[in-house]
Amino acid sequence: MKSWDIIIVGGGIIGLSLAIALRRRGARVLVVERGEPGREASYAAGGMLVDCSLETPPALQPLAVASARMYPEFAHEIEVESGAKVDLRDQGTLFIPPAEHVHERPGFTMAELLPAPLSELEPELRAERAFYLKERSVDPRALSSAATKAAKNLGVDFSSGDSVSAVNLSEGQVTGVTTIKTSFLAPKVVICAGAWSGQIAPCAFPTRPVKGQMLCLAMPSRTLLKHVIRSPKAYLIPRSDGRLLVGATVEEAGFDKRTEPDTIQRLHRAALELVPKLRDARMLEAWAGLRPGTPDGLP
Ligand SMILES: Cc1cc2nc3c(=O)[nH]c(=O)nc-3n(C[C@H](O)[C@H](O)[C@H](O)COP(=O)(O)OP(=O)(O)OC[C@H]3O[C@@H](n4cnc5c(N)ncnc54)[C@H](O)[C@@H]3O)c2cc1C
Repeated sequence: MKSWDIIIVGGGIIGLSLAIALRRRGARVLVVERGEPGREASYAAGGMLVDCSLETPPALQPLAVASARMYPEFAHEIEVESGAKVDLRDQGTLFIPPAEHVHERPGFTMAELLPAPLSELEPELRAERAFYLKERSVDPRALSSAATKAAKNLGVDFSSGDSVSAVNLSEGQVTGVTTIKTSFLAPKVVICAGAWSGQIAPCAFPTRPVKGQMLCLAMPSRTLLKHVIRSPKAYLIPRSDGRLLVGATVEEAGFDKRTEPDTIQRLHRAALELVPKLRDARMLEAWAGLRPGTPDGLP
């Protein structure tokens, strides 16, 4: 029976990027994916590559900074290995802080933290003050799809439509996994099953789903917004093809991926308050996804 050096359970961006990194180092890798690769949280995400210390837990900050630095090379390699684009953008983020967090000192204004006046950076944005953050964004759907192609081109094996129910052990050693269809052999298994990671015996990881609802608008012109905008009520993420993502809720709702019309309308209204010109923008899509959550908020 065929065997691998490592089995990765879950073909989201975490499982895919790990599979690629291991394969580049010569390992024989199998990704076992319950559905299609890259169709869960990694499909639902906004794609902001956040390393701002205001929003990142302190223990995660060094990792977030290192990860943000590595992203251009990571994205470039995926594009080369897949022949597909991932829309990595580096126009930066305009961060609109909650009013209660703004305490300007005499002789200092937040405008000094901007590379140009706000009205020049984003003429259509209705905001009095903002910070500029040198952050990037990526299109997570394009990235997951390209990472799947890159992994296949590099020789990673896939078993899709196959759910892992258990990691197999013999005399305290990992021997592979059992799936609904069959079993696979490997001396190492990495669980990258996102919000579902706690469902695979005998691991019982304390992961839980954290629901996020989002919507997508077609901007009236492709360059209506250039920066990611993050405000207390919503964030806006422009894509190079003229789509604008508006997100997102953070909800404890179990494994429920339904969207609620009231919630989507609230996000939509928040987007219109920030950019009134979006009034005539067509809504293309609304969706919900499940982030992997942990008790301490850390990986
Ligand atoms: C609405 C929303 C907005 C977000 N925005 C951002 C953002 O702007 N920036 C950011 O950095 N992050 C964002 N995130 C978080 C980001 O999406 C996740 O952190 C990331 O996608 C997690 O990737 P993953 O591979 O761990 O999980 P997933 O992409 O969920 O992949 C897990 C995979 O495991 C598979 N699987 C599950 N159980 C099994 C099993 N038993 N057997 C086999 N396969 C299994 C699933 O089918 C799935 O494909 C957002 C998330 C959501 C929902």
